[in-house]
Amino acid sequence: QPLTASASEPEERALEAALRPKNLDDFVGQQRVRRQLSLVLEASKIRGRTADHVLLSGPPGLGKTTLAMIIAAEMNAPLRISSGPAIQHAGDLAAILSSLSEGEVLFLDEIHRMSRPAEEMLYMAMEDFRVDIVVGKGAGATAIPLELPPFTLVGATTRAGLLPGPLRDRFGFTGHLEFYATAELELVLRRSAMLMDMKVNSAGFAEVAGRSRGTPRIANRLLRRVRDWALVHGIEQIDARGASEALDMYEVDARGLDRLDRNVLHALCTKFGGGPVGLSTLAIAVGEETETVETVAEPYLVREGLLGRTPRGRIATAAAWAHMGLAMPANAVL
Ligand code: ATP
Repeated sequence: QPLTASASEPEERALEAALRPKNLDDFVGQQRVRRQLSLVLEASKIRGRTADHVLLSGPPGLGKTTLAMIIAAEMNAPLRISSGPAIQHAGDLAAILSSLSEGEVLFLDEIHRMSRPAEEMLYMAMEDFRVDIVVGKGAGATAIPLELPPFTLVGATTRAGLLPGPLRDRFGFTGHLEFYATAELELVLRRSAMLMDMKVNSAGFAEVAGRSRGTPRIANRLLRRVRDWALVHGIEQIDARGASEALDMYEVDARGLDRLDRNVLHALCTKFGGGPVGLSTLAIAVGEETETVETVAEPYLVREGLLGRTPRGRIATAAAWAHMGLAMPANAVL
C-alpha cells in the first residue's frame, strides 16, 4: 500500500480520524487557502446563505477531506461524503442529491473520476439546485425536474487540470493545497504526538518530518510506526536516532522515498537506461496503475529533482542515479 493512501486497518483509521484538526485554527499551514476559505465562509454566514461550492486540488494526503469536514463544522452543517468512482451512473448522483438536507455539505473526493452523465447532472445541480430525473427509455423517456435544497459542494481532485472546464467554472472558490514545509510538518507531528501521548524530542520530530514528503498524512503514519517501534523496544523518549532506526526498518529512506518511489526510480534506471520512457510503460514496469505513479510517486520525485518530465517521456536525473547508488551511463539523457 503506498504511503499516501488512507489507512486501511480499522485501528489505524480510528487514529487517523482522531488526529484530524476540527477547525480552521487547528489546521496547520496552507495559510493562503485557509485565509481565503475563512473569508468565503464568514461572508456566507453574514449573508445567511449556504457557502459557495469549493474545489480543493492537490496531491493526496494534504488535507482535502479534513478541510471538507472543517467547512461543514464551521457552517454548522451536516456532511455527506462520496467519491467520483462511486458515482458511475447519473442515478447514483440523483439519489445522493435528492436526499441532501438544506445547507448540507457534500464532499466528492476524486471528482474528476465521475462518469460523464453524472457530471452533466452535477452542472445543473450546482448552478440551479435542480436535476432532471429521466424516467423511461427511448422515445417514451421523460425528464422530471426535481428541486434541490441549496447545498455546498466540496470537490476534491488531485489535479484541477483533470476537470473539464464547465465543471471547474461552477466552483465559486478553488484552493490549491501545496506540500507542507518541514517546519509545518513538525507542528502537525507535535500536535499528533500530544494526542497520542508520545514523548519525542525536537530532533526526533525533525527526523520524522524530514521523511514525510511534505505530507501530513504520511507524517502521522510514520509517527505511528515510530510509536510501534518505541513500544516494542521499550523506549520512553524518541530522539533522532530512534526515529531514523525505526523508519529505516519500514523502508522509508532519509529523503522520504518509500518502496513505490524507489521502485519507480530503480525501474527507470535499470530497465530503461534512465529514460526517456512513457509514463504508462513505466507504471507497467513497477506493476502499478498509471494514475498511482502519476499522482502518488511522481509529484514528489519531480519536486525532489529526482525525476524529470520531458516531451519524450520520464527521465532519471543525475541526483536520482546518485540517490539509488547506481552508476549513471555516459549516454544517459539528462
Ligand atoms: P485524500 O485526497 O487522499 O483523501 P486528503 O488530502 O483528503 O487526502 P486528509 O485525509 O484530509 O487528506 O488528511 C490526511 C491526514 O493528515 C488526516 O488524518 C489529518 O489529520 C492530517 N492532516 C492533513 N492536513 C493537516 C493539517 N493542515 N494540519 C494537521 N493535520 C493535518
